[in-house]
Amino acid sequence: MDTTRVAVIGAGVIGLSTAVCISESIPQCSIDVISDKFTPDTTSDVAAGILIPHVYPENPVHLQKQWFQETFDRLFAIANSSEAIDAGIHLISGLRGSGGQVHIRKVEDLWEFYGSYDIVINCSGLGSRELLGDLQLFPVRGQVLKVQAPWVKHFIRDEEGLTYIYPGTFDVTLGGTRQKDDWNLSPDPQNSREILARCQTLEPSLQGAWGIKEKVGLRPSRPGVRLQKEILVQDGHRLPVVHNYGHGSGGFCVHWGTALQAVQLVKELITTLKISTSKAKL
Ligand SMILES: Cc1cc2nc3c(=O)[nH]c(=O)nc-3n(C[C@H](O)[C@H](O)[C@H](O)COP(=O)(O)OP(=O)(O)OC[C@H]3O[C@@H](n4cnc5c(N)ncnc54)[C@H](O)[C@@H]3O)c2cc1C
Repeated sequence: MDTTRVAVIGAGVIGLSTAVCISESIPQCSIDVISDKFTPDTTSDVAAGILIPHVYPENPVHLQKQWFQETFDRLFAIANSSEAIDAGIHLISGLRGSGGQVHIRKVEDLWEFYGSYDIVINCSGLGSRELLGDLQLFPVRGQVLKVQAPWVKHFIRDEEGLTYIYPGTFDVTLGGTRQKDDWNLSPDPQNSREILARCQTLEPSLQGAWGIKEKVGLRPSRPGVRLQKEILVQDGHRLPVVHNYGHGSGGFCVHWGTALQAVQLVKELITTLKISTSKAKL
């Protein structure tokens, strides 16, 4: 097997970073991204993308530290490079630059990929609840406001992290809410009023903010990130899968570290596939 055909499900920060990481680390892979939603319509588009460590009770602490450190190092390197201004589009352009294809569609069953791909990488976030029946996954709804306030140059955050003001490249994110098991993707006007009032108390100059847009995202929460390889078996057929989902409130903080670990799992599967292919030839 010269080329390993890889399908990545999901085009949020986790799917795209995993796809780019595989293409950078394992050149013999051809990678397609299949997703029902792309930017600007994913949960990842709602996040302010602040790097504050988030706790995953079911993942070993040393791994969480490693994911965070690797992600921080990667982003720090990008921030200090000529790519810094394009960092927001870095992932998708990196993938296309290496010949990857993107397909817009909803995946109903992982077996749809059998025969067309050698390995499936599942980065479908909250979608894994329906796709795999993973009932450990639950939404934590987050509503934020994106406003124009170019004079705000520093972030402000209260102690619990529920009220925050994060200046970004194009706007300032005002937050927020954390509503467990709430699936409502429509902005709630009452939430918006409260967010604005709380943020204006922290930073009164926000009374002059304009261009207010309401955004809602559902954090794909789980007691632990699922980073695991699995070989599905059906009617004597085998479908190798790597799962990388359930990043909850911290997907941006650990995306590159978890992508690197997913790459390791892909390498292990490729070794297994090569062994089974050569056995079949004997
Ligand atoms: C308000 C808010 C603020 C946040 N702030 C931060 C922050 O400051 N720092 C931080 O680290 N994190 C933050 N987060 C969390 C972060 O946004 C998530 O951890 C991250 O976006 C998860 O990325 P993901 O790629 O797993 O999920 P998503 O971005 O949801 O991507 C999942 C992808 O899978 C696709 N998909 C799902 N099911 C299927 C299917 N069956 N078939 C095809 N495609 C499918 C979707 O279309 C989507 O493209 C915040 C989240 C919210 C809501």
